[in-house]
Amino acid sequence: MCGEQLARAGHTVNIFDEHLAWEKPCGGGLTHKAVECFPFLLDNPYPKKLVSSIELISSNEQSVMLDMSHPIVIYSRTVLNGMLLNRAAEAGCRVQRSHVMSVDTSEAKPRYCVDGEWRSADFLVLAAGARNRLLPETRPLERDELEMTQGYFVPETCDAITVKFLPHFEGYIWSFPRRNSIVTFCRRRENEHFPSAPCWARIGR
Ligand SMILES: Cc1cc2nc3c(=O)[nH]c(=O)nc-3n(C[C@H](O)[C@H](O)[C@H](O)COP(=O)(O)OP(=O)(O)OC[C@H]3O[C@@H](n4cnc5c(N)ncnc54)[C@H](O)[C@@H]3O)c2cc1C
Repeated sequence: MCGEQLARAGHTVNIFDEHLAWEKPCGGGLTHKAVECFPFLLDNPYPKKLVSSIELISSNEQSVMLDMSHPIVIYSRTVLNGMLLNRAAEAGCRVQRSHVMSVDTSEAKPRYCVDGEWRSADFLVLAAGARNRLLPETRPLERDELEMTQGYFVPETCDAITVKFLPHFEGYIWSFPRRNSIVTFCRRRENEHFPSAPCWARIGR
C-alpha cells in the first residue's frame, strides 16, 4: 500500500518480496477502522468473508454471542497480499520476487543487496516482518520475547469468529471463517503445551 501510494505520487518504486502473495500465518481479518481508512479493502471483487458476530467460549464451556455493528472483513492472506501487490503494480511499482540479502545505511544514500548486486535508493522502506534481521542497529527477537502459535486450516466455513479459553491454559484458541475455510490458531505461553485434539473439536465443528 505504501509503494502504491508513492508510485501514484510520481515516485519510482521497486518492491522486493521473497514470497510475493503467500498464505502467511495470519487470520487475515481486517477491522472496521482499517476498512474506513481504505474503503477499497471492502469494495473490490476479490473473495472475502464478512463476519458480524463473535462467539466467546469460557473455560467451563459457557458461551456468549456478540453481534458487531460493523463487520470484520476476512481474506485469505494469499488473496489480500495478491490484491495489494496487483494494485502496487498497476500504480507503476516494479514488483520483483527476490530475497534482500542485506541493507547498508552507513552512507548518504541507503543501499541494499539483492540478487548478488548492491543498489542504492533515496529511501528504503523495510516491512519484512517482526523477525527480520535487515534493520541496522537492531537484533532479532529472542525466543523468550515470542509467543508460540499453532494453526490449522479446516475445509469448511461458518458465520461467526470463535474465541475459546481452556481450563489450566493461559493461551486460547481462535478461529476465523474465510470464504471457503476456517483458519484456526492456538496461542500458548512459553511453558505450556498445545492442547490435545479434543479441545479443538468444538471450535472446528
Ligand atoms: C497467527 C497470527 C494471526 C494473525 N491474525 C491477524 C488478523 O486477523 N488481522 C490482522 O490485522 N493481523 C493479524 N496478524 C498480524 C499480521 O499478520 C502482521 O501484523 C502483519 O502480517 C505484519 O506485516 P509486515 O508487513 O510487517 O510483515 P509480514 O506480514 O511478516 O511480511 C513480511 C514480508 O517480507 C518478506 N520478507 C521477509 N524478509 C525478506 C527478505 N530478506 N527479502 C525479501 N522479502 C522478505 C516476506 O516474504 C513477507 O511477505 C496475525 C499474526 C499471526 C502470527
